[in-house]
Amino acid sequence: MTTTATAPAPNPALVSDEARIDFWARQAGRLDWSTPWHTTHRWQPPTAVGTEPDGTVRWSVPEIGWFEGGTLNVAYNCVDRHVEAGRGDHVALYVEGEPGDRRTYTYAELQREVARAANALLSLGVEAGDRVVIYLPVIPETVIATLACARIGAVHSLVFGGFSAEALRFRVEDTGAKVLVTTDGQFRRGAAVPVKAAADEAVSGDNAIEHVLVVRRTGETDIPWTPGRDLWWHDVLAGQSDVHVPQPFDAEAPLFIIYTSGTTGRPKGLVHTMGGYLVQAAYTHALLFDLLPETTGDDGVARPDELAAVNDPVKVDRTVHWCTADLAWVTAHTYEIYGPLANGVSEVLYEGTPTTPHPGRHFEIIERYGVTTYYTAPTLVRSLMAAFFDGVPATYDLSSVRLLGSVGEAINPEAWRWLRAQVGAGTAPVVDTWWQSETGATILSPRPGDAQFDDGAAPKPGCATRPVPGVSVRVVDEHGAAVAPGEHGLAVVDKIGPSMARTVWGDPQRYLDSYWRAFAAQGWFLAGDGAKVDADGDIWILGRVDDVINVSGHRLSTIEIESALVAHPWVVEAGVAPTADARTGHAITAFVVLHDGVPLTDVAPALRAHVSREIGPIAKPAHVVIVPDLPKTRSGKIMRRLLTQLFEGTELGDTTSLQNAPAIPAIAAAVTSWKDNS
Ligand code: ATP
Ligand code: MG
Repeated sequence: MTTTATAPAPNPALVSDEARIDFWARQAGRLDWSTPWHTTHRWQPPTAVGTEPDGTVRWSVPEIGWFEGGTLNVAYNCVDRHVEAGRGDHVALYVEGEPGDRRTYTYAELQREVARAANALLSLGVEAGDRVVIYLPVIPETVIATLACARIGAVHSLVFGGFSAEALRFRVEDTGAKVLVTTDGQFRRGAAVPVKAAADEAVSGDNAIEHVLVVRRTGETDIPWTPGRDLWWHDVLAGQSDVHVPQPFDAEAPLFIIYTSGTTGRPKGLVHTMGGYLVQAAYTHALLFDLLPETTGDDGVARPDELAAVNDPVKVDRTVHWCTADLAWVTAHTYEIYGPLANGVSEVLYEGTPTTPHPGRHFEIIERYGVTTYYTAPTLVRSLMAAFFDGVPATYDLSSVRLLGSVGEAINPEAWRWLRAQVGAGTAPVVDTWWQSETGATILSPRPGDAQFDDGAAPKPGCATRPVPGVSVRVVDEHGAAVAPGEHGLAVVDKIGPSMARTVWGDPQRYLDSYWRAFAAQGWFLAGDGAKVDADGDIWILGRVDDVINVSGHRLSTIEIESALVAHPWVVEAGVAPTADARTGHAITAFVVLHDGVPLTDVAPALRAHVSREIGPIAKPAHVVIVPDLPKTRSGKIMRRLLTQLFEGTELGDTTSLQNAPAIPAIAAAVTSWKDNS
């Protein structure tokens, strides 16, 4: 096997460490700093410091610093400075509630609301460094509370509003939060659902919570209340001034703790810091969502200037960004809260489920606000495809859409093509952004100006292509050698950017063990995803390493098999997981959700033959189980390890991240009846 490196060519301007660090220093100029930094970047890689009892090397935990010595206020950078620049009347947020209530916040209004919330938190004794857990749906108060924390230097941790009391309790206790912000209830699929009781349950144990702030959203009357501890958000804010002078904080002070979605196990609380995170969030938002000025290349074609450290004001003004992720997910932190607001664009916040009260709700919202950049997840695209298989009705005007984005999982090429054809008029670029809670911002993605999106060019659906400027990625084998084109390898980030998580909250050892130990000698970050490099040097993400199936020594990627299945006209969604097989090691087991009306006889042989044709006989699923739903995390990722456990009948591992727990018994029943019949 050859070990020729075919990693994508880095931007020539950024090859040396010096050029890369200088690039980030220039990008940091996007922000307003109160004090300039003295050290752009400090990197202390893992170092061998002794021997573990089992004889292996003991490594030190790596240390990362960016813009040390510098101070800034993150909320000021996301709100106030736009007002000071005369853009106070520009719309920051177009808010739409699930029941249809609407409200607009200009940057000036947002500034006043954030100031009042900051004063309110201060009045409750919240100080810089204290933790605040925010357990809210996608409503403006969530953004306001988040920015208020940032403004006073409190560390926020957002928890998905659909999570159980148990999942919330873990995060309240792990962060040691002093304040919990929650709601009376939330709107979900057309109904008002109580929330406060779950919040109460989560804070009932031993924890540091002093106050529970309650936003009135659904107007539930009979909600449980603990006098003294519980306070209405509107009461606490009512008495506060709408002026607050922001204080600067160290670039390396913690901004937030984000828990991974927990697809592979107990969630990890990644810590992101103020300066580096905001720099990379703002830059990558501008790069990927087309805010950078254009420059004409040698070929005479004008394309965005990737290295520009200022935005094109015309592009900023015309942008109406919509990231559909829940605010508690890292995607929303970076591309719904911090990135877009740091860049001063308008954006949409939509509270509800995409299918309430009808499956075209998203199209209605795109039309109403003239959304220009629509950033969503593969699971959502697949559900839109299921509802609008024959195309989006012409009654919706989607002509404002200029750019599409996908994140969360590798997107099935079929879903990519549907999205581009139906929502992007067949011409919009699709940024398929690969990144993680750990990296804080996008690492791999095509760019809006890429030639693959030109008229008549051959696009690459499902390909994350290449690193953004200022970071670098390799695809290597377990010894760190570059893999040959087309071979499966591991994605590692060998040169990190400023938004890399600094540690795991309260557990630096886990930070070392999970991410740095595997390539400690090289100082590379192990992403945990499999990848391959194609003949052009473009990178394809193949899903989690844990999801790779080994059949008689052949390594197969679950996502490739799922994409083949989803390309079949009967299949809405597919989850493929390895199940134990005495003969082949792993048996490929496919769980499929079918379109309504598909006759249920002979599905398995047809789908097995289809995968065999699309990929090859080796990838043919041994078992095909028809299920009503797939287990998914809150961010819509398929939890393949649960599929394995459900099939093998073993105990389910950590399920706190599960979004659709009620679907599990039905999936289990489908497995049982499949076993009874085979
Ligand atoms: P845990 O690490 O606890 O199992 P998680 O990895 O699901 O949770 P996140 O950090 O939210 O938590 O998700 C990052 C992962 O999502 C990536 O490692 C990758 O597997 C997947 N992912 C995100 N975007 C893409 C993309 N564009 N293409 C392929 N995979 C993606
Ligand atoms: Mg992960």
